[in-house]
Amino acid sequence: MKHNFGAGPGILPHEVLKQAAAAVVDFNGTGLSLLEISHRSPEFEAVLAEALKLVKELFSVPDGYSILFLQGGASTQFALAPYNLLPEGGKAAYLETGVWASKAIKEAKFFGDVQIVASSKESNFTFIPKDFEIPADAAYLHFTSNNTIYGTQVQKFFPSPVPLVCDMSSDIFSRKVNVADFGLIYAGAQKNMGPAGVTLVIVKDELLGKTNRKIPSMFNYQTQIDGGSMYNTPPVFAIYVSMLTLNWLKAKGGVEAIEKENATKARVLYEEIDRNPFFKGVAATEDRSHMNVCFVAENPDHQKPFLQLCDEKGIVGIKGHRSVGGFRASIYNALSINSVYVLIDAMREFAEKNK
Ligand SMILES: *Cc1c(COP(=O)(O)O)cnc(C)c1O
Repeated sequence: MKHNFGAGPGILPHEVLKQAAAAVVDFNGTGLSLLEISHRSPEFEAVLAEALKLVKELFSVPDGYSILFLQGGASTQFALAPYNLLPEGGKAAYLETGVWASKAIKEAKFFGDVQIVASSKESNFTFIPKDFEIPADAAYLHFTSNNTIYGTQVQKFFPSPVPLVCDMSSDIFSRKVNVADFGLIYAGAQKNMGPAGVTLVIVKDELLGKTNRKIPSMFNYQTQIDGGSMYNTPPVFAIYVSMLTLNWLKAKGGVEAIEKENATKARVLYEEIDRNPFFKGVAATEDRSHMNVCFVAENPDHQKPFLQLCDEKGIVGIKGHRSVGGFRASIYNALSINSVYVLIDAMREFAEKNK
């Protein structure tokens, strides 16, 4: 078994992978593969209904919100959010905390005025800007809750005079969120919720239909809501594996229980980074992510040998993003604390060997 610290697609629970593998051959004793049954069959409709129910339950999604499973990844939502929520001639506010936020800004500019309320670009996104004003005449404020590449995370959500639109791709279901504080939440599944190929969208119904813009059917949240995420053929396998993963999370005690576990995993790892003279953290301490832990070797010559030691220990996916360098340990929901201790032991062994 490997210790999978990859940033995405990320680790999935082993028992989920086994169940998914079995369903590919014979889905629930039907004698058919999950991949060759109609998406309109009662069997698949039950899967979709269960997945929607789990999202609603685990995330306490209140009434007045629709839950969708769409395709095209979070990157498609960069465009669909303004397409559906930014009125013709209107303005949207954006917080720039990383490359994903910048890409969302780029797409929003196709649809209207974009006001960047604050940016940490000058410091290579090592922190989350805090004291900024949100224009009251904006259609919404868009931000990224967890910056996968830089290891920063919004620890306290902003009180806002306008609806909040949030890209939660890399920390969805990792902690409790008050959905009622948001107008739109979206997340590509492949970091913390399931496999690549499906994107979760949670949208407040009353915000829709106000743009005065014609929106093609597939890009219109309302069409997708009316079609129950089945306006066209949905990504059946990705939805199925997400459903299994959410069931696994529920059995573990849900979001509250995993939030505690994630906090412990992050704490012990950051403690080692701060204690061990061979390594140092990258992100501002108060903004440190509980999902992606970014750190570098104090001595750049130690980069390669540490990666080699990790390789020997079965630690994979730990090389940092090219724009940050160093190391990034992604400690998503499915990564056990035992794997975190294996990494910590490797860091200690490395320090011992090189002192
Ligand atoms: C990975 C990631 C994306 C891109 O997701 P795709 O599904 O590949 O489009 C967007 N935002 C964040 C925060 C991410 O971590």
